[in-house]
Amino acid sequence: MKVGFIGLGAMGRPMAKRLRGAGFELSVYDVMAAAAEELTALGAVAKSNPGEAAASSELICLSLPNSAILKEVMLGENGVIKSLEPGSLVVDLSSVEPQVSRRLAEAVEAQGGAMIDAPVSGGVVGAENGALTIMVGGKKEDLDKAQEVLKHLGKKVFHVGGPGSGQAVKLVNNLLLGANMAAAAEALTLGKKLGLTPETMLEVISQSSGASYALSAKAEKFIYPGRFEPGFAVDLQYKDLELAVSTAKSLSMPLPMGNTAQQLYEIARAGGRGREDISSVIKFYEEMAKIEVRS
Ligand code: NAD
Repeated sequence: MKVGFIGLGAMGRPMAKRLRGAGFELSVYDVMAAAAEELTALGAVAKSNPGEAAASSELICLSLPNSAILKEVMLGENGVIKSLEPGSLVVDLSSVEPQVSRRLAEAVEAQGGAMIDAPVSGGVVGAENGALTIMVGGKKEDLDKAQEVLKHLGKKVFHVGGPGSGQAVKLVNNLLLGANMAAAAEALTLGKKLGLTPETMLEVISQSSGASYALSAKAEKFIYPGRFEPGFAVDLQYKDLELAVSTAKSLSMPLPMGNTAQQLYEIARAGGRGREDISSVIKFYEEMAKIEVRS
């Protein structure tokens, strides 16, 4: 199967490498030409715009930062939709608004193709190891067709409903991650202020009812050594909370936890920490409490 891959960033590059490693004929495109170098060294062909990458492919994967860029790549002058061969399948691995996914799926269908939304969870390590969780919205028959590719990227692939449903589950998941990370940062700082050691807190709480993925994945690896290279960047978590907050607004649903959590990531961005890992939200608490949670 000929595969196109558009967006070769922290997630897209390792995913595309896995597909090339599995033997797929691969056409790649990224707006930063240098992002394709590792792939071309492995035998992939770099294209000069999204349309070119799509024209030569039966299945086109996208891993892009946000809805505005995804729309431009899909609908723009040299975009995917204009070059799509009838019968081609678009697999969008980005995290975007469910309603944007639905609209793009309609546009692809009008062109004789099909699209599934397939946002992922599991971070860069999951992408490198083919161990992502993939949440798919769209037709089951299209997911079945995509499995030939998705099986190399994820260990758990869930079909959760029609177009946009994968994005809806992802949005709910990342609302929880964002709020859990902020809560863990707040709690760890209070514990330190009370004289507890970081090790004691992690050992006890990870076996108690306060346990969370945010605590277990971020405390020992990022916060305690004070190393905040992502990981999962504050800017992306902020964007995911914006997806949740704006979607909730459109449904007239109050979202106090999501809005409060988003403010903490806003503070991190304002402090120049947008490209740091989400665990760096703890620096706000540390500055206020005038201590650091390190070991
Ligand atoms: P990233 O910023 O590292 O990569 C995005 C890539 O898209 C970059 O290489 C950039 O040059 C490219 N790009 C930007 N505009 C483009 C355009 N017009 N045409 C082609 N390429 C363009 O982001 P990432 O961390 O790889 O995340 C990608 C998506 O996956 C996002 O939607 C993110 O929310 C989601 N996600 C990320 C993680 C994570 O841990 N990083 C985890 C799960 C999901």
